[in-house]
Amino acid sequence: MPHYPDGLACPWYFVERLKFVAHELARVLRSVAASEDVGQLVSFENDFFEIRSYTQCKHEKDNAPCPYCRPNFKCGDVEVRWYKHLGRDTVINREITPREAFSIFSLCLHSIWELEEVLYNG
Ligand SMILES: [Zn+2]
Repeated sequence: MPHYPDGLACPWYFVERLKFVAHELARVLRSVAASEDVGQLVSFENDFFEIRSYTQCKHEKDNAPCPYCRPNFKCGDVEVRWYKHLGRDTVINREITPREAFSIFSLCLHSIWELEEVLYNG
């Protein structure tokens, strides 16, 4: 039984790309603070997107994503939510095409690489 039975399932290829975004962020951020074991537990926000790879919501709710917590991922008007861990019962707020998914993925990655550039070569 999925946690969000009424939600629109997020396409698997977009879930996989979001995992890569989280991994790439972890790689870049971990090298900033080597003592912090961020692993895949990433919480990040810039001008282009926001991601929270793990959430522990304490609000009362019924079979739906939490209306009080920020989405786990947001880029433009695309919002993705999952249950605790990225990829688990993942729902999206609207349909997206594979091309659009790739374009969001690309935007996120480039902004991460720009951040890396600023942090280490700025
Ligand atoms: Zn909540």
